[in-house]
Amino acid sequence: MAVAERLLVIGGGPAGLEAARGAADLNRPVLLVEARDTLGGTPWESYATLTPHLKPTKEIMAGMLTAVEDHPLVDVRLSTRVVAREGEAGRFLVTLEAADGSRQVEEVGAVVVATGFQHFDPGRETQMYGYYEYDDVITLVDAERMMQAGKVVRPSNGEPPARVAFIQCVGSRDRHIGNKYCSKVCCGIASKQSIEIKHLLPDAKVFIFYIDMRMYGFWEDQLYWRAQEEHKVNYIRGIVTEVIKKGDQLLLKGEDTTMGRPMEVLMDLVILSVGMEPSAGTLEMARVFEIPREEHGFLATVGEPLDTVTTPVAGVFVAGAAAGPKDLEDSVSMGGAAAMKAVGLLSRMSRTPA
Ligand SMILES: Cc1cc2nc3c(=O)[nH]c(=O)nc-3n(C[C@H](O)[C@H](O)[C@H](O)COP(=O)(O)OP(=O)(O)OC[C@H]3O[C@@H](n4cnc5c(N)ncnc54)[C@H](O)[C@@H]3O)c2cc1C
Ligand code: SF4
Repeated sequence: MAVAERLLVIGGGPAGLEAARGAADLNRPVLLVEARDTLGGTPWESYATLTPHLKPTKEIMAGMLTAVEDHPLVDVRLSTRVVAREGEAGRFLVTLEAADGSRQVEEVGAVVVATGFQHFDPGRETQMYGYYEYDDVITLVDAERMMQAGKVVRPSNGEPPARVAFIQCVGSRDRHIGNKYCSKVCCGIASKQSIEIKHLLPDAKVFIFYIDMRMYGFWEDQLYWRAQEEHKVNYIRGIVTEVIKKGDQLLLKGEDTTMGRPMEVLMDLVILSVGMEPSAGTLEMARVFEIPREEHGFLATVGEPLDTVTTPVAGVFVAGAAAGPKDLEDSVSMGGAAAMKAVGLLSRMSRTPA
């Protein structure tokens, strides 16, 4: 079998961009397929600023996009999905479908799936926080939109909130809804947003209600301590079980687990720290490439912790949040590792044809 030279990267978020650029820099032609009409993935679409430096997402990520868009070896197809595949490692035939419904079959040697995650829907099942009932209950993603506009207000009346609460672990670490994992980034993102709210509204009181704070590596120092010491954000160990309307405010009911007593507090704005679930595109790629899913629903890999990108399907690699909750550092590192493994495989196969 003649080994196809090209690498297919599916998903143009941080992980896919790094995989595409890495493989192309190793002199491998790359076909990059992205379902949306722009590259950049979830951060580009949804987040105003990024941890740990709180700099604008578009400023930080622009170079990643142009490195791929301007690379002579990367063929970018926007508004396109992979809908079918045949063949095996060394020669896959993939069917691409464009937004207008037209289809095209392309030959590629190996594949990197980087189709990412979606935010947990806080209206689902056991969630008692009134996201779809109360205007002033929003998510981290809604708050990022406000940050983008440079204005944090109560959606119900357009006024700045005097008291803001974050509720952590919404849709994560919750066996009742089947998400038995920590989403890894939301403690850091809530801390980042609390600092940004205090910048915009210095007189507001900001509270973060948590089961336990999970900060990784330098985020502890860059976000958690900074939020408390420089910005006087209040971290309260407690479980919020219910949010109800009281007058024109929101009453949070639950338990203060440090004090071991029931808790009821009034807030003007509640921000739900929603976690990560596999995206619809990730589930679709599991089906198309017959990639098994690990017990939490993300794409399975073999060889962890030493190999985070090789799936059980020969010639198919995964990078980023398609394989589980990841921050940007993880996602970009995995993109590079997946590119290297895929290029290595194709080089080995070309040297020793079957
Ligand atoms: C609220 C929130 C805020 C966050 N903020 C930060 C932060 O400040 N710093 C940080 O380090 N991390 C942050 N993260 C985590 C960060 O968003 C992820 O680490 C990162 O987006 C993962 O990159 P990815 O490329 O794997 O996936 P994504 O960013 O989700 O990109 C996946 C891409 O694949 C495309 N796609 C999906 N399906 C298909 C398909 N079938 N065909 C083609 N394309 C497809 C999508 O359109 C998308 O462009 C945050 C997460 C959340 C939940
Ligand atoms: S990172 Fe924090 S908020 Fe997110 S799931 Fe883990 S413990 Fe909960």
